[in-house]
Amino acid sequence: MTQEITDLVEQASEHLRQNYKQYQHHVASALKCNDKVYLSLHLDTKGFDICAEPIALSNALANGETEFKYIVAVIMKKDGLTEIVSPCGNCRQMLLQYCPQVEVILNADDRIATVAASKLLPWPYN
Ligand SMILES: [Zn+2]
Repeated sequence: MTQEITDLVEQASEHLRQNYKQYQHHVASALKCNDKVYLSLHLDTKGFDICAEPIALSNALANGETEFKYIVAVIMKKDGLTEIVSPCGNCRQMLLQYCPQVEVILNADDRIATVAASKLLPWPYN
């Protein structure tokens, strides 16, 4: 794992530690573009949750970003520690459509790995 990846995971974790609210925000995401990191929180609602990843992506797109390097999401565990969480199916579809080249940081068999978004959803909805 590179220092860049370690730093991005830590940025997402710190963002979540600072903004965690039970039943509101228990996942955070960090999206690394060229020189800038876009942080976000997921929104927990009574009807459905809005994931952190699309919020980070939307923020990056609104700022004119076109090159996406890494994205990670972290979740708050009951023991107060954070851990990397893999993107849900909807987010995999979204990443594939908007930034298929982004490297998604995830836990693979208890080790941190990166996988291109284009490889996370082999048979996407078209
Ligand atoms: Zn999601």
